[in-house]
Amino acid sequence: MTANYKAELVGVLGYPVAENPTGVMQEAAFAAAGLNWRYLTIEVKSEALPDAFRGVRAFGMRGINLTIPHKVAILPLLDEISPDAAMIGAVNTVRREGDRLIGENTDGKGFLRGVREEAGLDPKGKRIVILGAGGAARAIAVELALAGAADLTIINRSVERGQTMVRDLVSATSANARFEPWAKTYRATPDMNILVNATSIGLFPDVNAMPDVSLAAARPDLLVCDVVPNPPETRLIQTARAQGLKVLTGLAMLVYQGAIGFEMWTGYTAPEVVMKDALAQAFGV
Ligand code: NDP
Repeated sequence: MTANYKAELVGVLGYPVAENPTGVMQEAAFAAAGLNWRYLTIEVKSEALPDAFRGVRAFGMRGINLTIPHKVAILPLLDEISPDAAMIGAVNTVRREGDRLIGENTDGKGFLRGVREEAGLDPKGKRIVILGAGGAARAIAVELALAGAADLTIINRSVERGQTMVRDLVSATSANARFEPWAKTYRATPDMNILVNATSIGLFPDVNAMPDVSLAAARPDLLVCDVVPNPPETRLIQTARAQGLKVLTGLAMLVYQGAIGFEMWTGYTAPEVVMKDALAQAFGV
């Protein structure tokens, strides 16, 4: 009988990274699928990224996630970048094809899977408002545009960042998109189908913070989404729930972006329920 004690390695490079919960759900998924894989949570400062990435190659790692501050800095180190990661301008997942390391972005894809599978809504032809113009907002906007959203409005505090995002989005996807500065309370209108908080407002430890929005005039079937995964029940989600609106928490995006990464790396269907339970337990919900 031959033995194989070699584990396949994946993980995440980031700084800070200690509170990143992805390893919990990926390790649970590997165990459920009977795979001898390990997910390593590795602290890497900006200046050490090129050396660390040489290590990813040298160890023959099957893939790696990138988080703050490496999602853009990784681009020149890759052998190839997927078309949508190139449109987004950031990579959160690297997969291996032979000796080649290929950059992908699963954040927006994970969000989209959550909208379709958990909220049961197809974004095609929908009018969508996104709060924020950072990395998460860019990934979500590109995937919604590619999925056929009819109309995208980007609301952001920093005017320059919001304008740049819309310019990049329109040139990459030809989306019907516009920017509005977030100067005063943003009032949801009855023609909107989906509202997405893609800012970090409400993220632990600022759990009482709430985006400056009014949902008073929203249509009854408005879907309110939050990207903030911790806590999943943000004040925005609580407010929308209390008003009887449909909601999608940041936990869904986190699970589905991880599930897509799992599938890219292993070739197996991700055990999404196991992953969700592992994360919910980690967040104590
Ligand atoms: P960035 O730093 O790139 O962007 C942050 C965004 O939030 C900017 O648009 C910024 O506006 C806005 N913002 C922050 N604070 C305020 C405030 N007080 N008032 C108004 N606007 C504010 O961060 P990311 O895009 O990478 O991450 C954003 C959130 O997405 C985080 O909470 C992160 O945890 C979450 N995320 C969740 C994922 C998931 O799977 N659930 C995956 C990836 C991210 P401005 O430009 O004006 O500064």
